[in-house]
Amino acid sequence: MNHDDLRDWSKRAADWAHGYHAGLRDRPVRAPLVPGAIAGQLPPAPPEAAEPMETIFADFERIVPDGMTHWQHPRFFAYFPANAAPASMLAEQLANAIASQGMLWQTSPAATEIEQVMVSWLAQALGLPARFTGTIHDSATTATLSAVLTMRERALDWAGVQAGLSGQPRLRLYASAETHSSVDKAARVAGIGQENLVKIPTDARLSMKPGALAGAIAADLKAGFVPAGVVLCAGGTSVGAFDRIADCIAVAKSHGLPVHVDAAWAGSAMICPEFRSLWDGVEGADSVVFNPHKWLGAQFDCAVQFIADPAPQIRTLGLRPTYLETAGREEITNFNEWTVPLGRRFRALKLWFTLRAYGLEGLRARIRNHVAWARDARDALAAIKGIDIVTEPSLSLFSFALADEAATEALLARINDDGRIYLTQTRHQGRYVIRVQVGQFDCTQEDVAMIAKVVAEMM
Ligand code: PLP
Repeated sequence: MNHDDLRDWSKRAADWAHGYHAGLRDRPVRAPLVPGAIAGQLPPAPPEAAEPMETIFADFERIVPDGMTHWQHPRFFAYFPANAAPASMLAEQLANAIASQGMLWQTSPAATEIEQVMVSWLAQALGLPARFTGTIHDSATTATLSAVLTMRERALDWAGVQAGLSGQPRLRLYASAETHSSVDKAARVAGIGQENLVKIPTDARLSMKPGALAGAIAADLKAGFVPAGVVLCAGGTSVGAFDRIADCIAVAKSHGLPVHVDAAWAGSAMICPEFRSLWDGVEGADSVVFNPHKWLGAQFDCAVQFIADPAPQIRTLGLRPTYLETAGREEITNFNEWTVPLGRRFRALKLWFTLRAYGLEGLRARIRNHVAWARDARDALAAIKGIDIVTEPSLSLFSFALADEAATEALLARINDDGRIYLTQTRHQGRYVIRVQVGQFDCTQEDVAMIAKVVAEMM
């Protein structure tokens, strides 16, 4: 295959993609679960001889789509969305065609500079102060890890990156039980240890109790631990919990502790000013992550970390061996020094295309619809006999259950085997519940109305 063939096949792929998206509603949202069914259709060994693209493409069409769970299906209400707006897909095609590696400004000047501008555009869009700069990671997990590594090094005065962790004091991190498991992973990977991630109790609103945070920090100091930082939750994965950001930041700052806010899902909603009270005080954070690849339409992967002062993170993660030296170090940004991996994709292009093609107004309208339709879905489910709404909508996420756990589990299995919609489960305060989130880029009011219709039929 050469570049002339690529041009022809790209057109064919574009036609295929158009048909795929147009036909999504006719497919079951979740792939039929038969482990091994796909691998069994592939030869066990690689081909020695080149194969015609016609055969390869035909195999793709025959094997892959039916073996996928369709994240762009308008009735995908599971997990959180991983939206891919058409404009974002187009940008990804172009970024793939250029196929750059943007580790240094010099290796991809446009990628670096568009990334800087996109971070600034998004900070404005979310109502964050202009002093926030930042970078784009692959995932919120990587952004949170970067923030936690920086917390660790601040606490150790950068002894950890130099001498290692052996013999260092035991550090403590603080988060609520509603924070995502990526915080636990960061504690593990950073060498702080999961045991030293103190889970602070939550109040009736599911916010970390600021008083309990203050108490835990005081007790740890007394016991000889070194508090390193606080990770706050703005839109928890399970049921959409929000910490009281301003109050918790006030506690952290009274001890000089840095704060990272995980708004991986809910951050997108902050383009709507009416939702910003949910994260009041966020401007006091040192670092904030949100995933445009969840709810904003810039397809996976794209996690933006806003940083109030990048110097500590660069001091933690940045290395400058001779083979990465370039001229003009003072006036340029080499984003590899802000992140864990060296190499980086051109992720900013899809943000540029998405923000321009829909405008903030267009994106706000979608998010407002999703929030409103989620409330309608909540009301329609509440009207079905036997269904308890367990958690009320937090933005566009709520949960429900039947009185009996086994019956709830069986109901969920029937719903997902039916295939018209896709929902997933969580455990909230000990109770097994079914989560509903509305956020797919192309979903309509009718698609969301299908939730209650299917559930009622499956009862
Ligand atoms: N934080 C929250 C609140 C999430 O919901 C998720 C994933 O759903 C993550 C972090 C991890 O996101 P990523 O897949 O980008 O690492």
